[in-house]
Amino acid sequence: MDTRSGSQCSVTPEAILNNEQLVLPPRISRVNGWSLPLHYFQVVTWAVFVGLSSATFGIFIPLLPHVWKYIAYVVTGGIFSFHLVVHLIASCIDPADSNVRLKKNYSQPMPIFDRSKHAHVIQNQFCHLCRVTVNKKTKHCISCNKCVSGFDHHCKWINNCVGSRNYWFFFSTVASATAGMLCLIAVLLYILVQYLVNPGVLRTDPKYEDVKNTNTWLLFLPLFPVQVQTLIVVIIGMLVLLLDLLGLVHLGQLLIFHIYLKAKKMTTFEYLIKTCKEESSKHQAVRKDPYMQMEEGFLQQGDGALGSSAQGVKAKSSLLIYKCPCHFCTSVNPDGGSTAREADDAPSTSTLGLQQETTEPMKTDSAERKTEIQELRCPCDPGLPP
Ligand SMILES: [Zn+2]
Ligand SMILES: [Zn+2]
Repeated sequence: MDTRSGSQCSVTPEAILNNEQLVLPPRISRVNGWSLPLHYFQVVTWAVFVGLSSATFGIFIPLLPHVWKYIAYVVTGGIFSFHLVVHLIASCIDPADSNVRLKKNYSQPMPIFDRSKHAHVIQNQFCHLCRVTVNKKTKHCISCNKCVSGFDHHCKWINNCVGSRNYWFFFSTVASATAGMLCLIAVLLYILVQYLVNPGVLRTDPKYEDVKNTNTWLLFLPLFPVQVQTLIVVIIGMLVLLLDLLGLVHLGQLLIFHIYLKAKKMTTFEYLIKTCKEESSKHQAVRKDPYMQMEEGFLQQGDGALGSSAQGVKAKSSLLIYKCPCHFCTSVNPDGGSTAREADDAPSTSTLGLQQETTEPMKTDSAERKTEIQELRCPCDPGLPP
């Protein structure tokens, strides 16, 4: 697969994920988080929200003694309601650059990016795809295929870009979800302790007057009481606790990361650039002798033809993928200049691309390495105009 075939260049003809999948942008720009296709992360998010809400307000809070029950309803209910509102707003907002929203017709197919005409999608603050003048901090998101003002990252969990228009709604979504999960854990721990110490405290609801068997519990009080055995409540409680802890770990580190970013006055995207530059500078050897690094398995060839040094030929116009130890990027962006790809919300190991074009066949003998390195740059370096 020659990933640099000029005629088929679009925004991301060379956007290759870890498994060398070709990633193409949507033909029509996405408007917001509800534009099709929905992302399965988004579906999981809402399923978890509905599931935890049902368990919290239908099963566990009704088990609390009177005073604590009403406090839990008010506090947890307020946090969950707030989360629902800001989550919906963060998903529904169109974070596009103001000129894109004013001038662009979202129903029109996006043009194909012609690399032979332009080196980068955005040049001199003009986007060749959206065909509008954009702000300085605007980036063209590959996932949304439109320019996003104050681009922070593309969030798969809300299936929408996070930019200056919806950043604080996104941040509030993460913060309120974290707070809600902490409340749920507090409720679960209280119930667990009381069950071990004095289970009668958990049976203060008037509807328990008709339940004589202490091994029987009522779910969905006070409106739709359903009798179940203790084991069922324990299983539900363990599953909810596990889900809650997993969510808390994920959201907690995301919240801390964004608090750190705000303290540093950076966006996620700027953080990625900074990280990539630092990592690239640590691996200057790659720039000096990429073939040696390839032999060490550090570089992989995008078109898959060059598996080892023994077969190191046919490297002309090939793409080399640099396994960047950066923790936040999820894909490569060999365009280098002006497009931004999804950054997973949670820190995760991933790859970035370093693009290298060679003009001569590769030789296995270092003495015969006459290949000319025309370009070797971090693709996460979009802020640098040519
Ligand atoms: Zn654009
Ligand atoms: Zn996006």
